[in-house]
Amino acid sequence: MPVYVDVALASPVRRLFTYQVPETLTSVPPVGSRVWVPFNGAVRIGLLVNQHTTTPEFDCKDLIGAIDQEPLVDENMLWLMRWVHLYYYCSLGEVIQAALPPGFALTGDLCYKPGMAPNANWDLPTKAIYDEIRESGRYPKLEAEKRWRAHTKSLKKLIKGGFIELWEDPKSIASTVTQTLWSATPQLFAEETFHRLDIYVHKSKPKWVQGLEHIMTLKLPLSTQQLNEKGISTPILKRLEQEGYLETSIVHRPFDVKIQVDPQAIKQLNSAQNEVLQPILEALNTQEYASFLLHGVTGSGKTEIYFHAIQQVLNAGKSALFLVPEIALTPQTIRRYAAVFGNNFAVIHSRLSERERLQAWRDLKTGRLNVVIGARSAIFAPVQNLGLIIVDEEHDTSYKQEDPAPRYHARDVAVMRAYHERAVIVMGSATPSLNAYQATLEGKSTLLKLNQRPYTTQQPKVHVLDLKQYRSAMRGPLAIPLYDAIQERIDRNEQMMLLYNRRGYASFVQCNACGHIPQCSSCAVSMTYHHSPKHLRCHYCGLSSSVVKRCPSCGASEGLDTKGSGTQQLEQQIMELFPEIAILRLDQDTSRGKHGFDTILGAFSRGEVQMLIGTQLLAKGLDFPNLTLVGVVNADTELAFPSYRSSERMFQLLTQVSGRPGRSSKAGEVYLQTMNPDHVAITMAKEHHYEGFIQYELPNRKLLSYPPFSRLIQLTFRGPNEILVEQAACLWVALFKQSYPEIPVLGAVPSLIPKLRGMYRWEVQLKTDIRGYKETERMLSDMIQRYDAEKAKALNAVKLIVNVDVL
Ligand code: ADP
Ligand code: ZN
Repeated sequence: MPVYVDVALASPVRRLFTYQVPETLTSVPPVGSRVWVPFNGAVRIGLLVNQHTTTPEFDCKDLIGAIDQEPLVDENMLWLMRWVHLYYYCSLGEVIQAALPPGFALTGDLCYKPGMAPNANWDLPTKAIYDEIRESGRYPKLEAEKRWRAHTKSLKKLIKGGFIELWEDPKSIASTVTQTLWSATPQLFAEETFHRLDIYVHKSKPKWVQGLEHIMTLKLPLSTQQLNEKGISTPILKRLEQEGYLETSIVHRPFDVKIQVDPQAIKQLNSAQNEVLQPILEALNTQEYASFLLHGVTGSGKTEIYFHAIQQVLNAGKSALFLVPEIALTPQTIRRYAAVFGNNFAVIHSRLSERERLQAWRDLKTGRLNVVIGARSAIFAPVQNLGLIIVDEEHDTSYKQEDPAPRYHARDVAVMRAYHERAVIVMGSATPSLNAYQATLEGKSTLLKLNQRPYTTQQPKVHVLDLKQYRSAMRGPLAIPLYDAIQERIDRNEQMMLLYNRRGYASFVQCNACGHIPQCSSCAVSMTYHHSPKHLRCHYCGLSSSVVKRCPSCGASEGLDTKGSGTQQLEQQIMELFPEIAILRLDQDTSRGKHGFDTILGAFSRGEVQMLIGTQLLAKGLDFPNLTLVGVVNADTELAFPSYRSSERMFQLLTQVSGRPGRSSKAGEVYLQTMNPDHVAITMAKEHHYEGFIQYELPNRKLLSYPPFSRLIQLTFRGPNEILVEQAACLWVALFKQSYPEIPVLGAVPSLIPKLRGMYRWEVQLKTDIRGYKETERMLSDMIQRYDAEKAKALNAVKLIVNVDVL
């Protein structure tokens, strides 16, 4: 009986492709492994996800061959991928692409390989091309096209006749990342070494002896690179090794150099922490699925509880997956994890090189490592024998992937993964999302609370400054009380942060004569003004342009004035007000690059600067003992952004920054400047009153049937022609209202940013029932089919993007 396989390809098309296994193939490749299949005139990589004997209704092509010996994806992971595929309405191939590291993914390097035997009566160039490709065995496509630019006809002829074939080869990535670590031998600090150095007291020291002296002052082990950076060259290190002072070891380098495990690093829990840990440990013992929401004020010791829970999981011979927001993976936090877990953990985040990502994946898949700490995509890490998932800062919006597909929410995927693999999941936050909180009210998850900080019992005092009342009592952007508070910190030599969340409030330039504001030519947004160097930049597509004297619209030459205020302008003003202190700015511009963020935070934590000015980046889980003041220059910026979640976001942001100061013995203070002192997000943040906020906000959501009481699905219609985009969106809505009159639909309306990177955008939102994602999937499939059948051909130019649980 012929055997068939269903294969997922790296394509947004939501169906699988079926191939017949030819008899020439001695065995059927296993489910979960990659195979080569013919597709669109090329040989492409696919993942085999299903094997069966049902003869398809159409003629199906033969499978070409296996790529992997063993499955890359096990049954559990395949189940999870299918769930993401159904729930988030994307193709299975898109999920696979996001889940597998580049070397194992479904897109590879395109190349030509020799096919059928040559033909005798070819012209010279054709034959030459054929010969060269055959000799090379595989010729990169791009290179071939460049090289035979003048002979594209010949190349095409060879492809068309099947003499050469286009193949997609898996990306080749060097397999392991290793580095040499240098450590001291007992001889380094032996008495005779000091005697040996004494010889040189009165004469000049050779280079290697200087190196020896230097190295005796360092804390080893260190890597070659680190030692080189400290001025000890590799030849000198080799000499010291020969002399018996140093020895080397080769280690895997999943991320950074790991420091030694520090037995002090894991703290003895206090009684409040123990009370929270107990039910988690009990759940771990049952080996069944259980879900917890840990609501603990900032600095209450949640991380310590995670450590204890992970330790228990490791002792039981299982593994743990620890998700944190990308921004929280700083060298500082990684060192904290390293002190607890030593070398037994992998780190996964977006700054890893392809090689490092592949290495981490392998280490987990083979079970060499049992703990993974990572950002969003780490939820797909091939952790074996999973016992525990932790999602720290579960409310953080960076867990939701917006673009490209799969547009998944890592916390929700984590819940499904824990459920399917019978693991325990602990979600933690100082400001739990309404979704997570509602789940505890419905009994789907258990609420655990930590109300106190281990050292100080007091939460920072929050002062609300009504800007309407301080109008005539301002020093630049600061109301007098905040100004005075800063002055006080300067006198006491304590540190402070000023938050300016500029969302929707960036500075721009405007013509004084006609009011013209320069816009980005490919996005419908105004260009943001940057001070040093002087230029305008689009914050959506990155396009930049120079600042012109003459208004491009009316031609007036009075010049364009800068309006609004961004962090840069604020920095300028604060520097003028307080010239005596060192200030650094932390925002997307200054933290760009691999180390920008860490460098700035490093300087602040070492006390080299007294004040940090920045965007909401400041709110993210940072711990500085000498920080005693946080000022929010404008607490209302979130409100300018139209979303059903504005209040929630504003409350979270204000509560999170309010938790930053006063972590050690010094008391902290917070000043919130606002035009809306009575807004519930402000009044509740002032009291650090999470429940108060929830009790106000949840009924509101219920009334308007917004999440967590519905599932919000956004459809975006995108294309280069404005009229067609509008038509497409309106047609979709009309068809939808006909077919599903009972489901509330909002729109079609132009998107908040109606044009982005040259593409016009319209959107539609559906509020569907939170239960039954399978029905929702069928409904969307059915609708899209109907829409495809009805729409005019011209509408093919409009792309339709589905975003389930849009934030
Ligand atoms: P959270 O994750 O809730 O923000 P952390 O776990 O980072 O809080 O704890 C805040 C600070 O308090 C850290 O410096 C941590 O080492 C310290 N800490 C937490 N629990 C204890 C404890 N039981 N004993 C001593 N120090 C603790
Ligand atoms: Zn732009």
